[in-house]
Amino acid sequence: MDGPSGTGKSSVSRQLATRLEASYLDTGAMYRVATLRVLRSGVDLDDPAAIAVAVKELPLTIGTDPSREVILLDGEDVSSEIRGNAVTKAVSAVSAVPEVREQLVALQRDLTGAAGRIVVEGRDIGTVVLPEADVKIYLTASAEARASRRNAQNIAEGRGDDFEAVLADVQRRDNLDSTRKVSPLRPAEDAVLVDTSDLNKDEVIDELYRVVAE
Ligand code: C5P
Repeated sequence: MDGPSGTGKSSVSRQLATRLEASYLDTGAMYRVATLRVLRSGVDLDDPAAIAVAVKELPLTIGTDPSREVILLDGEDVSSEIRGNAVTKAVSAVSAVPEVREQLVALQRDLTGAAGRIVVEGRDIGTVVLPEADVKIYLTASAEARASRRNAQNIAEGRGDDFEAVLADVQRRDNLDSTRKVSPLRPAEDAVLVDTSDLNKDEVIDELYRVVAE
């Protein structure tokens, strides 16, 4: 399951996995943990070589049970901290470093190889990580629809209401993710495109379930 941020990808992927009685892997969380490690080690985000060193031997534990989120950095639960603004702002820079991608892609293949039936979500799953996946889905939605969802989430979680700033951030990340040299964000040739702009979460899950069942 690939696609840009704000398509509802994380929550629908997790719920789809539950409905399919499959495992679930959130690869974005892995890049976020790597980014937290980089921020904590005080490395300059303009220095890819130093980022690669900071992320080498990343003590990351990530669960694959869709009903129980486990995300640990060196044994510490960082599931909340990795969703904060500091990590969200820095993650594109860290995920653009080839050594970081190589390392995390290898770990993603290990985790998925051991899991059996699994829903894996990210940006490059169908194109790079699992090109032989049985079903590839690319979720899309307009930048406005995605920003509006993220803003609503910010309001609900007490992080303020600023649609214009959120929209600018969505566009900035889209641009960075789709133009980076390594694994730019794009649909796999054989992916099924699902546009979620005008669908609610249950409608998206029903549509995805239908695609998988076909
Ligand atoms: O999905 P999420 O918003 O948590 O992903 C955070 C960031 O991690 C993305 O903006 C992207 O830069 C990076 N990412 C990636 N490849 C993946 C998953 C996430 O580059 N497979």
